[in-house]
Amino acid sequence: MNSPDTSYTGRFAPTPSGPLHFGSLVAALASYLDARAAGGQWLVRMEDIDPPREQPGAADTILRALDAYGLHWDGPVMYQSNRSEAYRAALDELKQRELLYSCTCSRKKLTPYQGRYPGFCRHLSEIPQEPYSLRLKTPTRTVTFDDRIQGKQAFPLDEIGDSILLRKDGLFAYQLAVVIDDAEQGITDIVRGSDLLDSTPRQQYLRQLLDFSEPAYAHLPVILNDNGSKLSKQNHADALPLDNPLPLLVRALQALSQPVPESVYDLTVETLLQWSVDHWNIESIPSRMGIPLK
Ligand code: GLU
Ligand code: ZN
Repeated sequence: MNSPDTSYTGRFAPTPSGPLHFGSLVAALASYLDARAAGGQWLVRMEDIDPPREQPGAADTILRALDAYGLHWDGPVMYQSNRSEAYRAALDELKQRELLYSCTCSRKKLTPYQGRYPGFCRHLSEIPQEPYSLRLKTPTRTVTFDDRIQGKQAFPLDEIGDSILLRKDGLFAYQLAVVIDDAEQGITDIVRGSDLLDSTPRQQYLRQLLDFSEPAYAHLPVILNDNGSKLSKQNHADALPLDNPLPLLVRALQALSQPVPESVYDLTVETLLQWSVDHWNIESIPSRMGIPLK
């Protein structure tokens, strides 16, 4: 085998809140094929930093499903639950640079602002007595990036507001962990669902502050169910069957508008994936899903 091209490192970063479903298979497959077609590495990172949302055993179930679908990763799996020290160190650095502040706002108080934090606590000077989160002071600036599927993107940061990096319940926030770990793992290319598109400017800004290099992005169209809503663990998308991976791999390739070989059911999972690596064309992926897929 050729030695891997270290100029491409991709990753799949599932949250173990339940088993893999069809939507997450599409994301895993796309990032896998993109990495392998570039001769790069493909890593798996388990984003297990939110115990209240996790399901016991889900991390192992996800890894077994990836194996059954032929999506074999490089190196050891990174578990975010082991990474507290790195997250803590980044928070300390940002705190020292006076980029963080404590926020005691309740969810109820923020409801009318629809996800955009209006900065109520920015100027609090004392450490609050009640539980508080830590927010990142974010300037008025527009973050731009050129997404390989969604095209040119521009997000004014002041429409998003100051991100939470440490939650009131003491848990590290996804936005912090993902940036620290993408840098630690040397990720050059992020291929993931468009539901995370508006997290990207937050992550880009934090990367810039910490002097990390910027990965390339490809945000996939979101897979819809029969009712036209997003397939997710919350709306009970079915767990992937482990005993018969070919039909769903074929559907996942179709969802990505990739070609499917003739007599595909005569192939093994490994030969289908190799064929798909050889025929991978990210340019044919639509930016949005036209027809709801089951
Ligand atoms: N853990 C996140 C999720 O499952 C994905 C993180 C990412 O790809 O950046 O939604
Ligand atoms: Zn506040």
